[in-house]
Amino acid sequence: MPKCPLSPKAGLDIGHKYIEVETMSRKAVVIGSGIGGCAVASLLAKSGCEVTLLEAHSFPGGRCASMEKQGFHYDFGVHMFSRGDRGPHGEVNRRLGGDLKWITRDPACRVMGRVEFDFPLDIKPLMHQVNLARNLGVRAKSYVGSFRLFRSLLKGDDVEVNDQVCLQDYVSRFTDDEMIHLFINCLSQLFFALSYKETSAGEFIWCSSRMFNEACFGYPVGGSGEIPKSFLRGLEAFGGKAHFSAPVVRIRIENGSVKGVETASGYYPADIVISNCGILRTIDLAGREHFPEDYVRKAEQYRYSNSYVTVKYALERRVVLYPVVFYMPHLPAEEVFRYVEEETVPEDPYLFMPVPANHDPDLAPDGKQLVIVGAPAPPGASGDLCAAILDRVHDKVCELYPDLEAAVLWQSRSTCNDAAELTGHHAGEAIGLAQTPGQAGRLRPELATPVTGLWLVGADVGARGIGTEMAAASALRLADILK
Ligand SMILES: Cc1cc2nc3c(=O)[nH]c(=O)nc-3n(C[C@H](O)[C@H](O)[C@H](O)COP(=O)(O)OP(=O)(O)OC[C@H]3O[C@@H](n4cnc5c(N)ncnc54)[C@H](O)[C@@H]3O)c2cc1C
Repeated sequence: MPKCPLSPKAGLDIGHKYIEVETMSRKAVVIGSGIGGCAVASLLAKSGCEVTLLEAHSFPGGRCASMEKQGFHYDFGVHMFSRGDRGPHGEVNRRLGGDLKWITRDPACRVMGRVEFDFPLDIKPLMHQVNLARNLGVRAKSYVGSFRLFRSLLKGDDVEVNDQVCLQDYVSRFTDDEMIHLFINCLSQLFFALSYKETSAGEFIWCSSRMFNEACFGYPVGGSGEIPKSFLRGLEAFGGKAHFSAPVVRIRIENGSVKGVETASGYYPADIVISNCGILRTIDLAGREHFPEDYVRKAEQYRYSNSYVTVKYALERRVVLYPVVFYMPHLPAEEVFRYVEEETVPEDPYLFMPVPANHDPDLAPDGKQLVIVGAPAPPGASGDLCAAILDRVHDKVCELYPDLEAAVLWQSRSTCNDAAELTGHHAGEAIGLAQTPGQAGRLRPELATPVTGLWLVGADVGARGIGTEMAAASALRLADILK
């Protein structure tokens, strides 16, 4: 097994029980079992580090956790995976020799609402792009501009030059067609939990080109929670340890270098500490005095993605026949996410509706169905506002599927507060640090921190991509730096 090239350090006595008593050598502690934490922990264990992962909750996965109730396996989030096996999850799995398997469906999705059509898995053939424009109801005079936009998204050039451009302006360079603007605005909210007014065009081009060229949009066998769980099986296989219900209460730093972490029950010395719990939370766990003032100030000013409110429906029979439903509201592109800015209730909510049991039938008991629905909400939205948005979401779902209400065995709702509770991020943001022009690409916060040996991983730092895939990509980068 290759050695992890980290210098041995002496242990510290701070009055806590020592969990590890031998001389510290090649020891890494990972705080948090979100996708980023699980991926980097397992990859470092494979490269020869002695890895301990500490998770605050009793289960793994953070925002990508799955739960089970009465034989229904449902996700905390509303997840689909833009690159499936071809993206960073597949890459982590291959490096670990893991057993993560993916399901894709063609058509990938049913678009409903303002227009209705099946969205094909592979949009590369020109005929599929012609059909897309026709199905979206693009005006004849906007065809040329729309195809040039599709081409530029597929080609994926000019990512960096457009990192500082907002997506709405980028789309306007090609066309003013209302339906194209509405479609891209809804996609932006799907990819990044941000309106296209706020999204970095470079980031959108990067993600679209991969998603549309790889044609691997899919869902893992066993549900979203299977991704972190499979990474944790890798961690265990390479000799690492994971402890649950073990919130880290302090990151110990001396003379500008990390020394280890403390939980309520003990002290874990380490040469390397990797935090998956966000920049601000990491700074607070370590103590602000250990960081340059401008680093802390910047961390306080970062903008986060919107939150999502969700409903999970356990149904006594199959009601929705599509693998995924993407509902585009009957509203102008400019108006569709105004309710998020104004912190009100949507007139006609945009919905994203994956049906996990239509991918993997084992996720619901025989003949039954699990449907998950999500809609954006302002970050930090109050419980009352989330409840009001969820009522509107439920009404819309029942309007689209009049048979659904009578088939509901139980439903479970989640709000911004639940997401905050799950991650420790106060705004309950769905994705992480927002992929805005000032926070994408080279301007994304780095994996390294100013403290020697203290690193960050996850959807806030050091990578591009959509949600979980960005978190896994940051883990791949960090594992390559540290191996
Ligand atoms: C409703 C919703 C829909 C989404 N849809 C998609 C989608 O379709 N596709 C997609 O790819 N992504 C989607 N995402 C985003 C995606 O889930 C996240 O971006 C990703 O999971 C974040 O991973 P992370 O590595 O940053 O870790 P996080 O999920 O932030 O996990 C951090 C972990 O650290 C733990 N932790 C925090 N503090 C401590 C501490 N002090 N000690 C120990 N442990 C601690 C937490 O308990 C948690 O387990 C969605 C998210 C939501 C909520």
